Amino acid sequence: MKKNLKDGVEFYTFNIFDNLNLKHCFTTKIGGVSEGTTATLNLAFRKKDSDEIVLENYKRVCDAVGLSYEGIVIPKQQHTNNIKIIDRSEIGLLNNNSLDNTDGIMTNEKGIVLTTLYADCVPLYFYDKKKHVIALSHSGWRGTVKKISVVTVNKMVKDFGSNVKDILVGIGPSIGQCCFEVDESTKIEFEQNINFANDYIYKCKSNNKFYIDMQGINKQLLLEIGLLESNIEIANLCTKCNSDTFYSHRVMGADRGCMAAMIELL
Ligand SMILES: [Zn+2]
Repeated sequence: MKKNLKDGVEFYTFNIFDNLNLKHCFTTKIGGVSEGTTATLNLAFRKKDSDEIVLENYKRVCDAVGLSYEGIVIPKQQHTNNIKIIDRSEIGLLNNNSLDNTDGIMTNEKGIVLTTLYADCVPLYFYDKKKHVIALSHSGWRGTVKKISVVTVNKMVKDFGSNVKDILVGIGPSIGQCCFEVDESTKIEFEQNINFANDYIYKCKSNNKFYIDMQGINKQLLLEIGLLESNIEIANLCTKCNSDTFYSHRVMGADRGCMAAMIELL
């Protein structure tokens, strides 16, 4: 990924999506109007900031990245592996859409800005360069264990006729293996659901905890179903290590803002 700065807004983009018919970003804390613990670019409604402040933050991001402000759609993420195909009836920032229990969204329509929110979980971006389908999925540890990455690709294949070899994937900034410390019960969830999980789990020497590489697991899950390694870009950016740049739940708890993953077909 590379860091971009436009009109004071700092955001990351994947090199793999350069020069394609899409716009996308992963936002940071930098460039908005929020104050206090959500300073400054919080993109989550109904946390601490008024709607007006969050709307202004989205406006700034859209202007900087070149995304369509009117086309934004945000699902109500619940750590599921439910994916929905979006149509225009669901767009609009204050649209009380029906996207409950939805952690992945997908479309082949131009002008719809798929948006999902983060503060340590893994953002996954998908683009089928032949069928012109985009998707985003929110892969926290529960979503990773439920293989939302694989569920997303399977839906692109089933509903849009995608060939897995045409799908580009960006795996965005999240809590890294350096910082994603879990107890044994979480470790066991990974082992029971992902047959290669142990290759991505590291035992802490000083206590009974474990460290898990969720970006790496998501990449390996995608390779196993036939995606090409050259079509996957992994951020290798840890949101906890870089909490000056990113909101991190593990650093700040619930009293914080959220970053957004956003993608739009042109
Ligand atoms: Zn870290």
